[in-house]
Amino acid sequence: MAAQGDITNTQNGDTIPFPLRGSAHAQKRDSESQDYGNGASIALELSAILQSTLEWNKVLTLFNSEARQNVPFDALNYTFPSDNIHFEIGVTKHHKASYQLTLGNQTLGTITFSRRRPFSDGQLKLVEEMIVGLVYPLRNALLYRRAVQSAQRDPLTGIGNRAALETALKREIDLSHRNGSPLAMMVFDLDHFKNVNDTYGHAAGDCALKQFAQTVGKCARGTDMLFRFGGEEFVLLLNNTEMMGATQLGERIREAVEEMELECEGARFGITVSVGVAATRIDDTPESLFKRADFLLYSAKSGGRNCVCSAE
Ligand code: GH3
Ligand code: MG
Ligand code: MG
Repeated sequence: MAAQGDITNTQNGDTIPFPLRGSAHAQKRDSESQDYGNGASIALELSAILQSTLEWNKVLTLFNSEARQNVPFDALNYTFPSDNIHFEIGVTKHHKASYQLTLGNQTLGTITFSRRRPFSDGQLKLVEEMIVGLVYPLRNALLYRRAVQSAQRDPLTGIGNRAALETALKREIDLSHRNGSPLAMMVFDLDHFKNVNDTYGHAAGDCALKQFAQTVGKCARGTDMLFRFGGEEFVLLLNNTEMMGATQLGERIREAVEEMELECEGARFGITVSVGVAATRIDDTPESLFKRADFLLYSAKSGGRNCVCSAE
């Protein structure tokens, strides 16, 4: 087993590099006159329990409840900034034991245990043994998370793809019905986009699609969710947004797109967009809401393009 890390024990300020080995630490722990059992079997048992799920937050939640049975602590904190993961259970206290997790040359983030009373040496050893049981299930869950995320991302623009839209739309409609909160949907289709490709080339068209997504992102709020539905069609979901607010934002986006001065592949040109805006009704399903917004988009097209059409 090749799990390795550094332990920083803030009780005495020491940083002790340690190699974690699943087969080690089979002897009794004596620091608090307590028999902690066999380290390797703890790691194996934990690993078997944690492998019951591939969801990283469930792995950590399970680990937290299992670990607390062996070593009492107040909080478990896990961070993996490069994957934008910050997870905490409990209330952080003064005494901390922190481990940077690596598997081979792969970094897996930092896990920190904290508690009001200092950890004994025996408890720290046990914590390390439990981490041996955590690293592989955690690594698998992180890989799974990345695979799911990349399967839901549009590689050209970096925003969610149609699969991600389907997941989010279902969730947001459910939330809207449950909380009685308004949800609006905006559907965009770039105007005469075939001409852009024909005139400036496909690479320039790709560049325009990327810049369109960036412009919408700048106009929208942090809670709005933008997806590439396909081709030159995009969808923006706006939770807690009434029809009027959504229509005003649709108009702002339309203007911002019209004002874009694109410089792509040595060519300078502009684009415009047609927009359909719909808001949820009490009996809406994901399909019915999308159908209405899409119908309004085609009204905008037949109304001359570069305009916004909306309806309750
Ligand atoms: P309309 O105003 O009616 O929407 O006209 P349009 O030309 O935009 O519509 P049409 O459906 O005829 O053409 C869509 C164009 O979008 C054609 C296709 O080549 C282009 N397109 C779709 N996906 C991509 C892409 O990923 N990259 C580039 N560069 N072009 C794309
Ligand atoms: Mg289209
Ligand atoms: Mg189009």
